[in-house]
Amino acid sequence: MSNADDAPIFDAEAFRLTAQERELTARARELGQTRFAARAGIFDREARFPTENYADLREAGLLGVCVPAAYGGLGADYRAYALTAAEIGRYCGATALTFNMHVCSCLWTGPLADTLDMTDAERAAHEQRRAKHYARIVDDGAVYAQPFSEGGSAAAGAVPFATTAVREGAGWRLNGRKIFASLAGHADYYGILCTEADAAGQLARRNTLYVAVPASAPGLRVEGDWDPLGMRGTVSRTLVLEDVVVGAEEALMPAGFYYQGAVRWPHMFLTLTPTYLGIAQAAYDFTVRYLRGEVPGQKGDKRRDNAVKQHNVAQMRLMLEQTKCLWFQVVSEARVDPGREMMLRAWAAQYSVMENANEMTQLAIRTCGGQSMLKSLPLERLYRDSRCGSLMLPWNADICLERIGHDALYLPGEND
Ligand SMILES: Cc1cc2nc3c(=O)[nH]c(=O)nc-3n(C[C@H](O)[C@H](O)[C@H](O)COP(=O)(O)OP(=O)(O)OC[C@H]3O[C@@H](n4cnc5c(N)ncnc54)[C@H](O)[C@@H]3O)c2cc1C
Repeated sequence: MSNADDAPIFDAEAFRLTAQERELTARARELGQTRFAARAGIFDREARFPTENYADLREAGLLGVCVPAAYGGLGADYRAYALTAAEIGRYCGATALTFNMHVCSCLWTGPLADTLDMTDAERAAHEQRRAKHYARIVDDGAVYAQPFSEGGSAAAGAVPFATTAVREGAGWRLNGRKIFASLAGHADYYGILCTEADAAGQLARRNTLYVAVPASAPGLRVEGDWDPLGMRGTVSRTLVLEDVVVGAEEALMPAGFYYQGAVRWPHMFLTLTPTYLGIAQAAYDFTVRYLRGEVPGQKGDKRRDNAVKQHNVAQMRLMLEQTKCLWFQVVSEARVDPGREMMLRAWAAQYSVMENANEMTQLAIRTCGGQSMLKSLPLERLYRDSRCGSLMLPWNADICLERIGHDALYLPGEND
């Protein structure tokens, strides 16, 4: 049995997927099975960006997966995207995680922006600017990165971004530094989060700007090396912006609307999870195949008749089913202005996917045994990649626990 036999992560009938979800997940799985799976080890070993996979995503039309249909894209909504990305993550974590950064530029500006309160003039200006942004993706095959993180607590949502934007004509002059900028040196545009100082020179989160900086912009450079534990193909190096000047047309959202979106559409921060749900599924799939003696190139016999191994597979299956069901519910209910219960579930899903993916890969290695962790097989990469999930802001594992614990005990407005 090989990857080509993989069933969908979410059975279309059982989970009542839409026709579009069935089609997109099938398209992603086909690419994953036939192209990404075989390359994943190479990108990992060389800590190299998966350029070849992006050529395939482009050819399959998936770069425009969340570009609204009116602008020539596939018009997928949040859930259709999440299901599609999980299938990609199953075969190459680094591709799925970087693809998420790209797709988020379309989700923020598209389905999410459509639910925010804009005046007619703001909406018209946004339509005009996003048309240009989408044309780059649909017509030119452009790839966007999403560098938010700066090393402090801005990416956790606690303070304003320290990267600044100062008015320059109709546009802005940007200065700052972004760490862990996935796709660094490989994106065509960087969707930069920065803060425009108010009249008193103060930085405030509500004055966050979200602007696209072309890779060729003078003053933009990539620096530092990239030799991490996992997710090595993301090439998340440091991005430095020194007096980078961008025009007003590069605003990905009207001023103030990124902040409104972040507050009113918190499920956007869950978009890192599909990658890791895919990894959890991959760890389970591998373990079953390995114990059945069906992994191509596997040395040794079947190992499925051992009761302890059967017990461990049961543990993995339980964890996978629980994680999948919680995640599916949460991505199904993602919406503007979610209620308190939805938020508690969202943090629980984020925590569960990120931690369970790693726990499942650990159990997979223990269960399959010594030979399964050789670098010629994918399990040790899944183990390293999965460790990265719960470090990612703004909803790292500790922040999720903190919020669940607090909000479970305090109703809005209550404090001691
Ligand atoms: C493989 C990989 C790819 C990534 N790609 C991107 C990308 O494309 N774009 C991007 O923007 N980022 C990306 N990141 C960065 C990621 O989202 C985090 O910002 C980063 O991992 C944080 O690292 P740190 O060492 O600064 O973390 P930490 O030190 O954990 O967090 C930084 C700060 O956040 C605050 N904080 C952390 N935890 C808490 C808490 N429990 N309560 C209150 N405050 C807290 C604190 O002020 C802390 O100093 C990537 C990370 C990885 C691992």
